[in-house]
Amino acid sequence: MSARVLIVGQGLAGTTLGLELEVAGVDFVVVSAGHERAASRVAAGLINPVTGQRWVKSTRVEELRPIARESYARWSALLGVELWHPLQLTRWWRNEAERALVERKLAAGDLAPFATAASVNERGVGIEGAAWVDLPALLGAAAQRWRERGKLRELALEGEIAAADLDFSAEAVEWGRERFDAAVLCTGSGRLARELFGFLPFATAKGEMLAVRGCPLPAGTAVSRGTWLIAGAGGTARVGATYERDREDFTLSAEARARLLADAEMLAGGAVEAGGQSAGVRLSLPDRRPVVGWHPTRPRLGIFGALGSKGALWAPWLAQVWRDAALDATKRFPVELSVGRGGK
Ligand SMILES: Cc1cc2nc3c(=O)[nH]c(=O)nc-3n(C[C@H](O)[C@H](O)[C@H](O)COP(=O)(O)OP(=O)(O)OC[C@H]3O[C@@H](n4cnc5c(N)ncnc54)[C@H](O)[C@@H]3O)c2cc1C
Repeated sequence: MSARVLIVGQGLAGTTLGLELEVAGVDFVVVSAGHERAASRVAAGLINPVTGQRWVKSTRVEELRPIARESYARWSALLGVELWHPLQLTRWWRNEAERALVERKLAAGDLAPFATAASVNERGVGIEGAAWVDLPALLGAAAQRWRERGKLRELALEGEIAAADLDFSAEAVEWGRERFDAAVLCTGSGRLARELFGFLPFATAKGEMLAVRGCPLPAGTAVSRGTWLIAGAGGTARVGATYERDREDFTLSAEARARLLADAEMLAGGAVEAGGQSAGVRLSLPDRRPVVGWHPTRPRLGIFGALGSKGALWAPWLAQVWRDAALDATKRFPVELSVGRGGK
């Protein structure tokens, strides 16, 4: 398909897709209801190769991380903003049982090359290859670029595209007076994709983050023990994130603030001062894998979503998968990420 593509939503998914289409010379328009509700605005953008309470390598991290690193470097050069920030990450175990589990895994080589028996220190394990990606900088710089080039249509939050605003036919998708060969929904936890792809068993999880001041750790250091803390310049740090299943509101709670402040002090090893708090909503499927592909009955409607807690790692590769589908309509999406897998 040599297409004109409508990208709905300019979070991480919509932004990475737009950048890949632009470089490939595919015509596109991004329609954005702003970033106020974007998970990508709140996210720390942490890429952590060893995750989960059972200490496992992030799914496909060995394959996805080099693609992510190369893509963010390319986009940094294109947009003139620094996106990829390497981290010295130490993950602490929470108790002796967890320590025993980790030591067994390290001895078996399960976490190599990101952690090995040589990475163990007094309280945990140094994890190689961690980084944080500056997602707000990526979104802001891409929006500016597309604004200047007439590629961005900006809507008020309450003016979000609704299903009834899109007209589908076998040949095209129409929105207002504009006609497109395809529309790709990159709407995160917004209603549109959840409605049009309502047969997928999506789940939401609210997350809150806290900025702190007075952190004694050097910039570029990160510590994780369930919650993680990323130290920035001048004693600033970010700590997060809470995880509340089945919540999709953006309210800031006093409980989350108190918990994150206590965690920040534990991880920083001393008193810190609470700063700004923020909240966002993650969207995921039960198998915790993203979804990319076409709607089963509306062939010109696609989805790029359910990025869960690992969008920074997955989105660059998935944007390439979508770019290839936009260039060649016969291209198939990976079965395990496809709409038809049913999310089981
Ligand atoms: C607290 C928190 C911490 C996180 N930390 C990390 C982390 O450290 N590392 C990591 O990899 N991931 C993290 N994540 C997850 C990460 O944020 C997501 O995986 C990713 O940002 C989702 O990107 P997205 O583009 O799918 O959705 P979003 O970023 O939510 O973007 C969707 C966009 O679409 C717009 N939109 C929605 N509906 C419409 C419509 N109808 N019309 C027009 N526009 C519309 C919205 O306004 C929004 O701007 C975190 C998430 C949260 C909430």
